[in-house]
Amino acid sequence: VRRVFCRWVEGFRTSGNATTAGRAEDVADLARRLLRALRGIKVHPLEKMPDSSVLVAQRLAPSDAVHFCGRAAAIVVEFGTPGAHCALMARQIGIPVVGNIPDVVARIPPGASVLVDGLEGTVLVDPDGEAQARFQELKKRYAAEGAAAMAKAHEPAITTDGVAVQVAANIASRADADLAAENGADGVGLYRTEALFMYRNALPTENELVEELSHTLEPLAEKPCITRLLDIGGDKSLPYLKLPPEDSPFLGRRGIRLLLAYPELLNVQVRALLRLSEQRAVQLMVPMVTIPEDMNRTRDIIESAARDLGITRIPPLVAMIETPAAALSVRDILRSADVISIGTNDLTQYVMAAGRDNPLANEYFREDSPAVMRLIRIVCQDAGPSLVGMCGELAGRLQTIPALLGAGIRMLSVAPRLIPLVKETVRQAEAMPKPI
Ligand code: PEP
Ligand code: MG
Repeated sequence: VRRVFCRWVEGFRTSGNATTAGRAEDVADLARRLLRALRGIKVHPLEKMPDSSVLVAQRLAPSDAVHFCGRAAAIVVEFGTPGAHCALMARQIGIPVVGNIPDVVARIPPGASVLVDGLEGTVLVDPDGEAQARFQELKKRYAAEGAAAMAKAHEPAITTDGVAVQVAANIASRADADLAAENGADGVGLYRTEALFMYRNALPTENELVEELSHTLEPLAEKPCITRLLDIGGDKSLPYLKLPPEDSPFLGRRGIRLLLAYPELLNVQVRALLRLSEQRAVQLMVPMVTIPEDMNRTRDIIESAARDLGITRIPPLVAMIETPAAALSVRDILRSADVISIGTNDLTQYVMAAGRDNPLANEYFREDSPAVMRLIRIVCQDAGPSLVGMCGELAGRLQTIPALLGAGIRMLSVAPRLIPLVKETVRQAEAMPKPI
């Protein structure tokens, strides 16, 4: 088993394609788990980790998350990117993660006392009494700020100069929606629907989709929920859809490009979402729009499906701006869209030519670089009176929020856990246009 897996891992690593090479870790993870199971070992090494420890590792696999959740006080990894699965999961549940520290496993002995500041990205080994006291003070301050923000989580976020900003949630599951409702979300700004399609052997039916979508969105009652059409291609595929291999999948057929090439896949979602829009406030978001025709064609398909279903009121259509071309074509895109939402995770990777999962390009993956910020301002200006929101990770960076509001962003969609703090940050900011 080990020999076969080694061959596979090597095959992935040397594939010459960064995305496929990134999956080598997943295959190695699978090998480790299978070998452990074959040896009759039922306990995962992380299960022995004492509660509230700092987990120091070379790298972590997505499956490790099950074991560190609720146990680790913080995570320090030698290799890893902020966009890696493990980092996203840890962030989602509020565990600080600091990554990309060379030789960190060798440099921190087991049992050492460590202070990890996830906001500053610092790790202090064997801190003296003064550093510990400073850190405790900081922790207390964060906790007090968190509690104060939570107390006002269900109130609207209005800037000091009186502009209302929607603070919505990025969700992918019912658990996320529950937390979003608890934390005072003004709605859903991005429902990633990939899980409804990826972990099954056949395309879900229209009825199944209506049922699953309405179950997930139930906790948000009548609040507006922006539901994204399936965003696959790139590094994601479907087991029941034989996609042709591509040399540069992130520059290939992904998002709406792929959906337009597979009408059956698009239609089932469009019909399900139109039916759902008769029951609740749902909006349809189109991923990876690049040229205005992407949006025009999608609107035509939605209108024709609505006619078939006898639905006269088309829900608002949201164009996701994730490519530089789309950012510079917002006026034309808005002929077929009602709302704009900037996806800064992909926009950054395409503007900076730096893969979001590629640790070697980390230095270039700067979500708040002047180039990205300038594009954001152009999008807001060109959108005129139309609502411009943001649903990438940048929307949750507290220190950047004043600049985003100044640029004209009026909806921030963030991880549910961040909602109270983001609302509080908005309340302390001005929305007056100012140069960014
Ligand atoms: C984005 O690209 O910013 C985004 C929100 O979408 P995803 O992270 O799902 O690609
Ligand atoms: Mg994206």
